[in-house]
Amino acid sequence: MGGGAAGLATAIFTARQHADARVTVVDGARSLGAKILVSGGGRCNVTNARVTERDFSGASPGAIRTVLRALPQGDTVAWFQRLGVGLHEEALGKLFPDTNRARDVLDALVDEARRAAVKILPATRVTAIARGARGFCLTTPTTELQADVVVVATGGLALPATGSDGAGYRFAEALGHTLVPTTPALVPLVLEGDRHVALSGVAHEVTLRLWQVPKPRTLVGSFLWTHVGCSGPVVLDVSRHLLRARLEGQSPALMLASVGESFDAIEAWWALEQQFRPRAHPATVAASRMPRAVAERLTAESGIDDMATLATLGRESRRRFVHAMTALALDVRDARGYTHAEVTAGGVSMADVDPATMQSRRCPGLFFVGEVLDVDGRLGGFNFQWAWSSAMQAARGIARMAT
Ligand SMILES: Cc1cc2nc3c(=O)[nH]c(=O)nc-3n(C[C@H](O)[C@H](O)[C@H](O)COP(=O)(O)OP(=O)(O)OC[C@H]3O[C@@H](n4cnc5c(N)ncnc54)[C@H](O)[C@@H]3O)c2cc1C
Repeated sequence: MGGGAAGLATAIFTARQHADARVTVVDGARSLGAKILVSGGGRCNVTNARVTERDFSGASPGAIRTVLRALPQGDTVAWFQRLGVGLHEEALGKLFPDTNRARDVLDALVDEARRAAVKILPATRVTAIARGARGFCLTTPTTELQADVVVVATGGLALPATGSDGAGYRFAEALGHTLVPTTPALVPLVLEGDRHVALSGVAHEVTLRLWQVPKPRTLVGSFLWTHVGCSGPVVLDVSRHLLRARLEGQSPALMLASVGESFDAIEAWWALEQQFRPRAHPATVAASRMPRAVAERLTAESGIDDMATLATLGRESRRRFVHAMTALALDVRDARGYTHAEVTAGGVSMADVDPATMQSRRCPGLFFVGEVLDVDGRLGGFNFQWAWSSAMQAARGIARMAT
């Protein structure tokens, strides 16, 4: 059930490994794979050159590792190559199709599903699943479908316009599974105040520090000021940790450093600049380390007026400014929500699923794959890798059940 990345891959792997199986993909959407098409800016970041359990959050590292081993990254690349989709590596290890077209990834999956005699039922929304005397009964608005085995591949709540509205969670809960509360992940943030409005459209490399319990988290990467707050890879990656900490009742502080060095190192640099460029405005000097617009905003916020020079800058103003350069507090009101999120954190607890087969421990014959599970990856192709690996693990689990 569900014909996204995880559902299509599970259907293909199952049909290929179990020649007698009659495999059907049932999907509520008219056309399958909407999320694949929009992924990676329409280019689909299929996987990453280096994938380990440390790239994921949610379930235990051991369970994630077990699932990833079912289809390691190298086997994923080889599989796509066999489907006619060559992949190439870009910055941060991201692998994209050589054609740079997400459509080619989706077409290759759908073509392979057809070659493997997988039946595809689009525009068929499942509204309920019930256990029968033998197998399961899936209710749709027009008919009832019987199945010996059901794979729940309905995704999470991210980008609901693509058909993922959390139905899988309701089915899982009705069949006795624990749901880990969900939050958006890989999502832009909404900030208080108006700093972001003035800087909207400006991007720069930053370090973000999230002061959360049990230990702070430091992330480095590209940051984008937006009309409502901030976005960019480093913000998307930090968002899940901030939202999970808030869900746990914490109030974690988020600090932005526009420069890589510590407060003391920037103070020392500043002292040198003061000697060599006494008549320069502080913003002009800081602009060698960050975008001019950010430097000007931070000097203004530090109470430094237009007439100031390095020579006239008082100690307190200088320290306030260095503090703004190295630890600027971002006052996060909220995240932009599931409609702007790339993935969902939380979901069906992996404690209720055997990671060696993806079969439910609560309901034999029921399997879970992909984003519906309480596993989310960081930015860089990891969420699709989770879809492919969990699909392979489920297909093996189903084949083992049948023998
Ligand atoms: C904008 C965007 C960009 C992204 N880019 C990347 C990227 O480049 N790399 C990466 O690794 N990850 C990326 N992701 C994340 C990635 O797309 C998802 O993690 C992945 O698609 C999840 O696959 P899935 O098959 O588990 O779920 P989904 O892709 O959400 O598929 C679920 C399917 O189930 C169907 N369904 C749901 N409920 C029912 C029901 N009741 N009955 C029948 N069918 C149902 C839906 O119609 C849908 O087709 C991106 C996500 C977004 C939103």
